[in-house]
Amino acid sequence: MKLTILGSGTVVPDGARNSAGYFVEFSGARVMLDCGAGTVHALSRYGLPWEEMTHLFISHFHVDHAGELASLFFAFKWGMRASRTETPLTLIGPQGLDRVMDGLKHAFGERLFETEFPVHLRMLAPGERIEIGEGGRLCVAKTPHTEESLAVRIESQGRSLCYTGDTDYSEELSRFFNKADLLVSECSFRERREGVAHLAVKDVAKIAADAEVARLVVTHFYFDVDERELKQELESGYSGEVVIGRDGMSIEV
Ligand SMILES: [Zn+2]
Ligand SMILES: [Zn+2]
Repeated sequence: MKLTILGSGTVVPDGARNSAGYFVEFSGARVMLDCGAGTVHALSRYGLPWEEMTHLFISHFHVDHAGELASLFFAFKWGMRASRTETPLTLIGPQGLDRVMDGLKHAFGERLFETEFPVHLRMLAPGERIEIGEGGRLCVAKTPHTEESLAVRIESQGRSLCYTGDTDYSEELSRFFNKADLLVSECSFRERREGVAHLAVKDVAKIAADAEVARLVVTHFYFDVDERELKQELESGYSGEVVIGRDGMSIEV
């Protein structure tokens, strides 16, 4: 399994960090996780086979995670270098994704989504799982962030990758991420902010430690990152390997 970070940032415009987006490649599947500002061009910048994308997962409907959906579909319609008529694209997300897509059609026109290849829409309830790629599976869990927000776990050929999406602290999530080879976690704040449903550094370390994940990649920062300092802080609560996420970073899982 290979993960590439398309966007390690948030909604805040940042020259080095796009809004949220990831690309995961494994046997029989090429999956984009979230589609925030800057991530569509990043697919090409980092040399990823975006035209052969098989699945697109949207964790929730905040604009820093879903804001470039229309751009991506416009690229599938007009920006493909090779014809693709058979391999379908499965769009996966929480309940309400159909409403979001209908809204985009209303805003930009039906034709935007009339791609040459079939597009399937699959809305998942927390706890649901689907088969993906060759013998792989993808399952989702609820996160305390928005009404619909989901975290995701992908497993293929004995390897596992999890992504928090956006979330507040939750013990249940640690169980969902149990013993994953890699956890990509949002890490919004240095210190907890009451009433804001995001993780602070200590929460991230606790979730990763309780889940006993082998490796932790942190992203989605609402603060200026000092990599050495942040790594130390995370390592004081979690003994696995810590990676401070950056746009363009690729990691073998
Ligand atoms: Zn959010
Ligand atoms: Zn976010």
